[in-house]
Amino acid sequence: MGKWTQFDMEVIKVLRREGIFEDGNTQKLESPDGEIVVTCADGDQMPDMFSHQCELADKGGWPVRPHVLSLHGGAMLMAEDCPLYQEFRVDELLLQHIREAEGKDLKGIGTVFLYIHVPCGAAGLAKLNLVNQIVFLMRAKERVKEIDSTNKVLCFVHVDYGTGRRRTYFISYTKWMEFWKEKASRLGWR
Ligand SMILES: [Zn+2]
Repeated sequence: MGKWTQFDMEVIKVLRREGIFEDGNTQKLESPDGEIVVTCADGDQMPDMFSHQCELADKGGWPVRPHVLSLHGGAMLMAEDCPLYQEFRVDELLLQHIREAEGKDLKGIGTVFLYIHVPCGAAGLAKLNLVNQIVFLMRAKERVKEIDSTNKVLCFVHVDYGTGRRRTYFISYTKWMEFWKEKASRLGWR
Protein backbone atom coordinates (compact mmCIF):
# COMPACT_ATOMS: atom_id res chain seq x y z
CA MET A 1 0.00 0.00 0.00
CA GLY A 2 1.34 3.43 -0.91
CA LYS A 3 2.10 6.06 1.70
CA TRP A 4 1.33 9.76 1.65
CA THR A 5 4.17 12.25 1.78
CA GLN A 6 3.93 15.89 2.72
CA PHE A 7 5.37 16.80 -0.67
CA ASP A 8 2.72 14.90 -2.65
CA MET A 9 -0.04 16.50 -0.60
CA GLU A 10 1.41 19.92 -1.35
CA VAL A 11 1.65 19.08 -5.08
CA ILE A 12 -2.05 18.17 -5.16
CA LYS A 13 -3.02 21.34 -3.35
CA VAL A 14 -1.06 23.51 -5.78
CA LEU A 15 -2.29 21.68 -8.89
CA ARG A 16 -5.91 21.94 -7.73
CA ARG A 17 -5.48 25.65 -7.04
CA GLU A 18 -3.82 26.28 -10.42
CA GLY A 19 -6.57 24.39 -12.25
CA ILE A 20 -4.14 21.76 -13.54
CA PHE A 21 -6.07 19.00 -11.78
CA GLU A 22 -9.60 19.28 -13.12
CA ASP A 23 -12.65 17.42 -11.94
CA GLY A 24 -12.57 14.14 -13.87
CA ASN A 25 -16.34 13.99 -14.20
CA THR A 26 -16.57 17.14 -16.27
CA GLN A 27 -14.45 15.72 -19.06
CA LYS A 28 -16.18 15.41 -22.36
CA LEU A 29 -14.85 12.23 -23.76
CA GLU A 30 -15.50 10.76 -27.14
CA SER A 31 -15.11 7.03 -27.25
CA PRO A 32 -17.37 5.64 -29.95
CA ASP A 33 -15.42 2.37 -30.03
CA GLY A 34 -14.86 1.90 -26.30
CA GLU A 35 -11.87 2.72 -24.16
CA ILE A 36 -8.40 1.32 -23.63
CA VAL A 37 -7.59 1.94 -19.96
CA VAL A 38 -4.08 1.75 -18.49
CA THR A 39 -4.02 1.71 -14.67
CA CYS A 40 -2.05 0.47 -11.70
CA ALA A 41 -3.17 -2.99 -10.57
CA ASP A 42 -3.81 -1.77 -6.99
CA GLY A 43 -6.86 -3.74 -5.87
CA ASP A 44 -7.72 -1.24 -3.13
CA GLN A 45 -8.22 1.48 -5.75
CA MET A 46 -9.42 -0.60 -8.70
CA PRO A 47 -13.14 -0.66 -7.79
CA ASP A 48 -13.22 3.15 -7.59
CA MET A 49 -11.13 3.70 -10.72
CA PHE A 50 -13.06 1.13 -12.68
CA SER A 51 -16.50 2.40 -11.71
CA HIS A 52 -15.40 5.98 -12.48
CA GLN A 53 -14.24 4.84 -15.89
CA CYS A 54 -17.49 3.01 -16.66
CA GLU A 55 -19.53 5.94 -15.41
CA LEU A 56 -17.69 8.40 -17.67
CA ALA A 57 -18.46 6.32 -20.74
CA ASP A 58 -22.03 5.63 -19.70
CA LYS A 59 -22.83 9.28 -18.94
CA GLY A 60 -21.40 10.31 -22.30
CA GLY A 61 -23.63 7.81 -24.04
CA TRP A 62 -20.61 5.85 -25.29
CA PRO A 63 -20.19 2.08 -25.21
CA VAL A 64 -19.03 0.86 -21.79
CA ARG A 65 -16.21 -1.28 -23.03
CA PRO A 66 -13.16 -0.77 -20.80
CA HIS A 67 -10.22 -2.69 -22.17
CA VAL A 68 -8.02 -2.63 -19.07
CA LEU A 69 -4.24 -3.03 -18.97
CA SER A 70 -3.05 -3.03 -15.36
CA LEU A 71 0.46 -3.37 -13.98
CA HIS A 72 2.03 -1.93 -10.82
CA GLY A 73 2.52 1.80 -11.39
CA GLY A 74 0.04 2.20 -14.24
CA ALA A 75 0.48 4.36 -17.33
CA MET A 76 3.75 5.96 -16.21
CA LEU A 77 5.48 2.65 -16.98
CA MET A 78 5.38 3.59 -20.66
CA ALA A 79 7.90 6.39 -20.21
CA GLU A 80 11.24 4.91 -21.29
CA ASP A 81 13.05 6.47 -18.32
CA CYS A 82 10.54 5.32 -15.66
CA PRO A 83 12.78 3.17 -13.44
CA LEU A 84 10.14 0.53 -12.62
CA TYR A 85 10.51 -2.86 -14.33
CA GLN A 86 12.75 -1.42 -17.04
CA GLU A 87 14.65 -4.70 -17.20
CA PHE A 88 11.43 -6.38 -18.34
CA ARG A 89 10.85 -3.79 -21.09
CA VAL A 90 7.43 -3.09 -19.64
CA ASP A 91 7.09 0.11 -21.70
CA GLU A 92 7.31 -1.84 -24.93
CA LEU A 93 4.92 -4.50 -23.65
CA LEU A 94 2.21 -2.00 -22.75
CA LEU A 95 2.66 -0.03 -25.98
CA GLN A 96 2.35 -3.26 -27.94
CA HIS A 97 -0.87 -4.15 -26.12
CA ILE A 98 -2.29 -0.73 -26.93
CA ARG A 99 -1.25 -1.12 -30.56
CA GLU A 100 -3.07 -4.43 -30.69
CA ALA A 101 -6.19 -3.18 -28.92
CA GLU A 102 -6.37 -0.27 -31.35
CA GLY A 103 -5.92 -2.46 -34.37
CA LYS A 104 -8.98 -3.22 -36.43
CA ASP A 105 -8.17 -6.95 -36.28
CA LEU A 106 -8.58 -7.00 -32.52
CA LYS A 107 -10.71 -4.29 -30.91
CA GLY A 108 -10.41 -1.15 -33.01
CA ILE A 109 -10.51 1.16 -29.98
CA GLY A 110 -9.17 4.66 -30.63
CA THR A 111 -9.55 6.29 -27.19
CA VAL A 112 -6.92 5.66 -24.54
CA PHE A 113 -7.21 6.56 -20.85
CA LEU A 114 -3.94 6.78 -18.96
CA TYR A 115 -4.02 6.67 -15.17
CA ILE A 116 -1.52 7.09 -12.38
CA HIS A 117 -2.53 7.22 -8.75
CA VAL A 118 -1.44 8.47 -5.38
CA PRO A 119 -0.42 7.09 -2.99
CA CYS A 120 0.99 4.31 -5.19
CA GLY A 121 3.03 1.52 -3.60
CA ALA A 122 5.02 0.91 -6.79
CA ALA A 123 5.92 4.60 -7.06
CA GLY A 124 7.02 4.44 -3.43
CA LEU A 125 9.27 1.44 -4.08
CA ALA A 126 11.03 3.41 -6.82
CA LYS A 127 11.11 6.54 -4.62
CA LEU A 128 9.12 8.52 -7.15
CA ASN A 129 7.16 11.54 -5.98
CA LEU A 130 3.95 12.69 -7.62
CA VAL A 131 5.78 15.18 -9.85
CA ASN A 132 7.99 12.37 -11.19
CA GLN A 133 4.86 10.30 -11.79
CA ILE A 134 3.18 13.12 -13.75
CA VAL A 135 6.28 13.76 -15.86
CA PHE A 136 6.37 10.07 -16.78
CA LEU A 137 2.61 10.07 -17.43
CA MET A 138 2.97 12.90 -19.94
CA ARG A 139 5.82 11.12 -21.67
CA ALA A 140 3.61 8.02 -21.81
CA LYS A 141 0.94 10.10 -23.55
CA GLU A 142 3.46 11.23 -26.17
CA ARG A 143 4.45 7.65 -26.85
CA VAL A 144 0.83 6.49 -27.21
CA LYS A 145 0.24 9.38 -29.62
CA GLU A 146 3.25 8.21 -31.62
CA ILE A 147 1.44 4.93 -32.30
CA ASP A 148 -1.30 6.83 -34.10
CA SER A 149 -1.66 10.59 -33.92
CA THR A 150 -5.43 10.36 -34.45
CA ASN A 151 -5.83 8.58 -31.12
CA LYS A 152 -7.55 10.42 -28.34
CA VAL A 153 -5.39 10.09 -25.24
CA LEU A 154 -6.63 11.39 -21.88
CA CYS A 155 -4.62 11.51 -18.66
CA PHE A 156 -6.02 11.07 -15.16
CA VAL A 157 -4.70 11.06 -11.62
CA HIS A 158 -6.62 9.01 -9.08
CA VAL A 159 -6.23 10.24 -5.50
CA ASP A 160 -7.11 8.34 -2.32
CA TYR A 161 -7.22 10.98 0.40
CA GLY A 162 -7.96 8.32 3.02
CA THR A 163 -11.09 7.95 5.16
CA GLY A 164 -13.00 6.83 2.08
CA ARG A 165 -12.55 10.04 0.08
CA ARG A 166 -11.37 9.33 -3.44
CA ARG A 167 -11.22 11.60 -6.46
CA THR A 168 -10.19 11.21 -10.09
CA TYR A 169 -8.69 14.30 -11.69
CA PHE A 170 -8.20 15.02 -15.36
CA ILE A 171 -4.86 16.58 -16.23
CA SER A 172 -4.43 18.35 -19.55
CA TYR A 173 -1.13 17.80 -21.34
CA THR A 174 -1.00 21.38 -22.61
CA LYS A 175 -1.80 22.96 -19.25
CA TRP A 176 0.72 20.79 -17.46
CA MET A 177 3.47 21.59 -19.96
CA GLU A 178 2.87 25.34 -19.55
CA PHE A 179 2.88 24.98 -15.79
CA TRP A 180 6.01 22.82 -15.90
CA LYS A 181 7.89 25.38 -18.00
CA GLU A 182 6.78 28.48 -16.13
CA LYS A 183 6.22 27.55 -12.52
CA ALA A 184 7.49 24.14 -11.50
CA SER A 185 11.17 25.06 -11.25
CA ARG A 186 10.32 28.15 -9.22
CA LEU A 187 8.55 25.87 -6.76
CA GLY A 188 11.64 23.66 -6.66
CA TRP A 189 9.73 20.76 -8.19
CA ARG A 190 11.67 18.16 -10.07
ZN1 LIG B 1 -0.15 1.74 -7.56
